[in-house]
Parts: sequence; structure tokens; C-alpha cells
Amino acid sequence: MIELANLNPYNLELVDYKIIKLGNNLPPHSSSMFEYLIGSNGIFARAVRPGLEVIIPVELFTASIRGLEPIEPLVRLTPGRIPQQILIQMWKESCIAALAEPPLEITFHIHHVQEQWQLVIPEQTQSSGQCRATEYGLDSSYINATVEVHSHNRMAAFFSGADDADEGGFRIFAVLGKVTESSAEIICRVGVYRQFWHVPADWIFELPSFIVDVTVGGEKDDLISNFYSCSVAPSLLDDPIEL
Ligand SMILES: [Zn+2]
Repeated sequence: MIELANLNPYNLELVDYKIIKLGNNLPPHSSSMFEYLIGSNGIFARAVRPGLEVIIPVELFTASIRGLEPIEPLVRLTPGRIPQQILIQMWKESCIAALAEPPLEITFHIHHVQEQWQLVIPEQTQSSGQCRATEYGLDSSYINATVEVHSHNRMAAFFSGADDADEGGFRIFAVLGKVTESSAEIICRVGVYRQFWHVPADWIFELPSFIVDVTVGGEKDDLISNFYSCSVAPSLLDDPIEL
């Protein structure tokens, strides 16, 4: 369990940098956004929020750096993966939205509340090619979402350029696609302030058999090809979306 350091939050760095020397355990997380960890095998980004701890690979070294500890990537959800009932509920709501004329996308937030996962369908604007929550204040559903999912209605599940622009912050992102077909699709990634790492959907969700994971790679033996940092400019929150 990664513990937040018991430090004055006003003294925390936004982004911190830590070298993990051989024989040392990981130090407490002590940055208010994320921190880079440098080990013998690479550079990793670590972030912590209620219900979610991640260590994602930024750069894996081709040679080991002597005198440093190797670092293991990590995606840990507490109290465990998102239950199947929540995923099925999102799929049902996605089907209803996809059967509208024109078919609509829909966005979902999953909150960590009293050691449980809770599904929220926020107030949102919807179109065939985009959906977006309308509230972004400090106590909004958007800010409190540990996992954010949206549907691509009848289209495939993938992360579009619009998704790269919208998906800032630190959380898990997922897309549901082809929701009205007999095999729906899902794709998942961890996002740490526009640094992304694709991870298998069953690391995040208890998957029912009719939802197929189309996340490419993401296994631990193929780490670096799945990390990327997004250079797409964030969309402005008050941008009107095409309806
Ligand atoms: Zn999308």
C-alpha cells in the first residue's frame, strides 16, 4: 500500500522526482499531482488518489543502472476491480443512447465512496461523436471520478483525438464501442496528467463474456510500446460541441 506522506500539503511539489537506491523501499508519495521514480530498469510516473494507485512506465532502460532498485509497474484499485453490475449498467445505458436517432454517445463517472464503487451518470451534452459532462467545479462528479467511461455508440472502441484532448487529470479512462452488437467492445488506459498507459480491461473491470477487450498489448512484457504522452492541446471546457 502506498501511503501519502504526512506532510503539509502546501509544501508538496506539484511534480516530484525520486531516485530509488538499491535496498530501499519506495518512499511515501509526496507530490500533489504525480512524481517520477527512477529505478534500475527505467523511469516511472506514480500517482495516488482515493481508490487508485498507479506506477506507469515512462521509459524502460535497455541496460540496467547499477546501484538502483528495479521498479514494478502497478495499477491497484481499492476495494478491488469495478463490479460487473456497474459495467453492465453502463452498457445498457449506452445501448439506449445508441438506439436514439441520431445515435448518441454517453459518459459515466465511477466514484470511490465509503470503500465502494458507485456509478454516476452526470449532467452532460451529447452528440453522435462526443459527450461531455457539464459541471467541472471542485465538488463536481467529474472531479470526483476515479474511473471515467464513455460510449462510442455503434462505432468501435478506441481513443480518438477528441478523447486525447478531453482526457486530462489522473484516473482510469475506458471506452465502450459497438454497444448494440452481440459482442460489445471495451478499451482501457491509465491517464496521469496526459501521460497514458494502456492496460488490459480485466485489470480494471470484472468483464462479462459479451464485452470483448480490444485494448492492444498492455501486458507487463510489452510495457513501453503502450506508453505515450499526449501533445494534443486540452479542449476548452466551454467549447460548444457539435450537435
Ligand atoms: Zn471517444
